[in-house]
Amino acid sequence: MTSTNNWDEPLPELMRDKWEHWKDSLQGLHHLSIPRSYATFSWKDMSQREVYVYCDASEKAIAVVAFLKAADLEGNNHISILLNRHYHSEVKHQGRHFTAGALRYAGFWIVGEKRLISPLLHKCVICRKLRGKQEQQLMSDLPADRLSPIPPFSSVGIDTFGPWSIVTRKTRGGQANSKRWALLFTCLSTRAIHIKVIEELSYSLTLFVDSLPYAEVFRKFAQTDEPILVWAVVNGRPIVPVSSEILSPAMLLIQKAGCYPAPIGTFDTMDLYKAQWKRVQYLADIFWHRWNKKYLQTLQTRRKWTDSSPNVKQGDIVLIKDKNVSKNEWPTGIIVNPLPGHDERVRNAEVRVARNGSTYTRPISEMVLLVRV
Ligand SMILES: [Zn+2]
Repeated sequence: MTSTNNWDEPLPELMRDKWEHWKDSLQGLHHLSIPRSYATFSWKDMSQREVYVYCDASEKAIAVVAFLKAADLEGNNHISILLNRHYHSEVKHQGRHFTAGALRYAGFWIVGEKRLISPLLHKCVICRKLRGKQEQQLMSDLPADRLSPIPPFSSVGIDTFGPWSIVTRKTRGGQANSKRWALLFTCLSTRAIHIKVIEELSYSLTLFVDSLPYAEVFRKFAQTDEPILVWAVVNGRPIVPVSSEILSPAMLLIQKAGCYPAPIGTFDTMDLYKAQWKRVQYLADIFWHRWNKKYLQTLQTRRKWTDSSPNVKQGDIVLIKDKNVSKNEWPTGIIVNPLPGHDERVRNAEVRVARNGSTYTRPISEMVLLVRV
């Protein structure tokens, strides 16, 4: 027997008992568990959990469907995320427009798609591998050594370059070649340079350089130095834009603006007593005055790395730049030890390469972040 009720009419007694019984049974939903569910985020992190049940209009359901609607803390619907991921991989990780187009073509209209899709693509590991930019961090403040008017080569940076093949001696059948390297000293305050040719780039030399203060290493090498045209030319370069006044390291070192030959004439020891030192001191003072006024202020601005970024952390997965191979072949690594600077910003980190297990120290500007922990 069937009966029909309008919306606002109370249920007949028989049906009401059944209804109450069914409603009471819903309490059991508190203990409902779904042991095999698939989700890309934790159920605890969901802001919205709703069970939808649809059935046909018969007294005893013939067909029924139930589904769980879940959304993460940002309100993104789980099925929308899966759909976006699926069609994003279908279009071979092309950009947002391609993914949205593929979704629409397949017949899906996702509400708020633009807001949803950008963060998904931003986190996509394959996209980061293909198009991710190398990490950046706000450029560090300059060290005090670069900002202090101190005697030239009090604080220096050291690097080597080379080698060149040179002819060392003639032999009967031809010639014997050897290699030569150059050790470059650069003064941190005046930007003057000094180059020393060295005969071998041995381990002992590295140890020697590492074990001494840089300025001391420079003095040891400079004692037996021969004039080299290269450093004379480089020291003659202006370190500020040229206007009516020129400022170059050579002005302090040899009291001349550029690379000029020695003055013509004969000089003897008597010349030493003609208050030459006063003249030298005066010229040095002019240099430091211009250095303070014109050069120092050019160091204030950061020409790149102007924004602060989140630090890389231990456990982050990165791609490590290798200039010898294409980006596709850059090795993957894991950050094992971030190395923060004085300002707690990380610009270098120790990274372990997944392929061979070796650990290297690399600047973050040579890493592409794939997965952030
Ligand atoms: Zn992708």
